[in-house]
Amino acid sequence: MPTLPADLDSGPRRGPAPAAFDVERLRADFPALHQEVHGHPLVYLDNAATTQKPTAVLDVLRHYYERDNANVHRGIHELSRRATEEYEAARRTVAGWIGATDSSELIWTRGTTDGINLVAAAWGVDHVGEGDEILLSILEHHSNLVPWQLLARRTGARIRYLEIDDDGGWILDDLGDLLSSRTRIVALSHVSNALGTINPVQDVVARVREATDAVVLLDGAQGAAHLEVDVNALGVDFYAFSAHKMCGPTGIGGLWGRRELLDEMAPYQGGGEMISLVERDSSTWASVPQKFEAGTPNIAGAIGFGAAVDYLSALPHDQLLAHERELVGYAMERLRSLEGIRIFGPPDPEARSGVVPFTLDAAHPHDISTIVDAKGVAIRAGHHCAQLVMQHYGVPATARASFYFYNTRDDADRLVDALGDVLEIFG
Ligand code: PLP
Repeated sequence: MPTLPADLDSGPRRGPAPAAFDVERLRADFPALHQEVHGHPLVYLDNAATTQKPTAVLDVLRHYYERDNANVHRGIHELSRRATEEYEAARRTVAGWIGATDSSELIWTRGTTDGINLVAAAWGVDHVGEGDEILLSILEHHSNLVPWQLLARRTGARIRYLEIDDDGGWILDDLGDLLSSRTRIVALSHVSNALGTINPVQDVVARVREATDAVVLLDGAQGAAHLEVDVNALGVDFYAFSAHKMCGPTGIGGLWGRRELLDEMAPYQGGGEMISLVERDSSTWASVPQKFEAGTPNIAGAIGFGAAVDYLSALPHDQLLAHERELVGYAMERLRSLEGIRIFGPPDPEARSGVVPFTLDAAHPHDISTIVDAKGVAIRAGHHCAQLVMQHYGVPATARASFYFYNTRDDADRLVDALGDVLEIFG
């Protein structure tokens, strides 16, 4: 690691970390949680969509724009040097979060969606042809479906699907039949955003490796936010994730890829910074990661992502996870007391991340969400960009409460109380 300039050493990113897990103390780090909505203290339970940001991240963004704002990798002046140093230090920090040992394997993207599109376009175009197969699951977010559908349409490849059982788990007995010598890529979610299922990805990767030489991509949008991730231990080839699901800014994410794959892939987009030499008729490419980072990147976003990972890294991860699981178990138990409720996903709270999707017989999810919002409770309603999951259960939408480490039992109680109002209104 290069040494940061002295003024940055004492900057906000290096601020004191909470000594031990104390949810009230942690909540104090998140200004957005301390507001009233429609005359009620906010209960924020839409964390699977995006998380709130701690002061440590907000301060780093402000500090960057106030002191160090410059373009990276090109200026010979002091501000550009500082910006570049912070930007590349953030890459090392974020790479470390997912267990990557070589930070040049981490490409900055706009987020998970962008990372998956990059692989589908840049890798897919040279490795997937007519009659080849792409294996997905019906649990996927549209971000891990539509890019592959576009690729299949362009190439004549065929998409095959791993189905789920009614508890929201993959039907692994089907895997043997779904994998073939034509399988080129297996693209699956680490954790489902629609049901919260923590998927048995390591087992699946092992079985894919035994049966095929397909490449494996994991959609880590929810995984990197809730689990300890080690891309090498998982044995995958690509891992895509988003900063905003884990205390960082929107519009920035990471795509990790195995170096040998990234090296042989053609660039995704052309432009400044991704070239080695440009001539009239052709160009040659910079090495990774710059080869995939055309144009001025989201510099502040990357630095903010680094600050988010610094913030999270200072917390006791095991305790956060245990707290989230305890909360999910508590919320599920309390929700089960409501008349006409149907909770989707794994019955065991240990088998899911912070997501608790449900429907009430009495009211449409959009009405549920509107009424609880009037009580200051923010949840999401809709298909959650997972229409194949909705089709599996035969519902158009669900209401979804999604918990993060800064939520409390009181938040779950406030949700259940507000749902009591829904039942009264629609009685
Ligand atoms: N995949 C999953 C499982 C998600 O939960 C999300 C976001 O909700 C995405 C992909 C897309 O992430 P982004 O919108 O940050 O690109």
